[in-house]
Amino acid sequence: MIIELENLFENEGEKLSIDQSFDFSGEELNGVHPFVSPVKVKGEIRNRAGIVSLHLRAAFTYQAPCDRCAADTKRDMLTFLEHVLVTHLDEEDTGEFIIVEGMRLDLTALVWEDILLSLPTKFLCREDCKGLCPMCGKNLNDGSCSCEKPIDPRLEVLRQLLDQ
Ligand SMILES: [Zn+2]
Ligand SMILES: [Zn+2]
Repeated sequence: MIIELENLFENEGEKLSIDQSFDFSGEELNGVHPFVSPVKVKGEIRNRAGIVSLHLRAAFTYQAPCDRCAADTKRDMLTFLEHVLVTHLDEEDTGEFIIVEGMRLDLTALVWEDILLSLPTKFLCREDCKGLCPMCGKNLNDGSCSCEKPIDPRLEVLRQLLDQ
């Protein structure tokens, strides 16, 4: 979705309300399609005293396997997008501003990038997920298994010393 911002850049006090849905259901991440419902984006882009800034919130449902136990997990997520938009930059691009070339903003690309950056590095079914037993593969959230815990090699040295 391309938004024309010429009017906004040229008129102080101008505002543009955004209320859009984006369909990312076809996007694949780590072998699954986690964006199971439309991403709802709301907020505004405004020109205050000549500075054009964007303030949006993106609400979406994310569904993917838990990174620890692989259980199918669905969660409602919220990402906030806060950016200052400029038409050009005289100094070095530090990533602080969004450069809008030709005063046309690709909102779909911006929402997508910000959502990717906001995703947790570990997606868990619950905060204290115990994961799977590395030996038998049992889901330890359902109870413990009878596998022997691998022995810490440092303790093993100690045990051998005590045995002598
Ligand atoms: Zn889990
Ligand atoms: Zn086990």
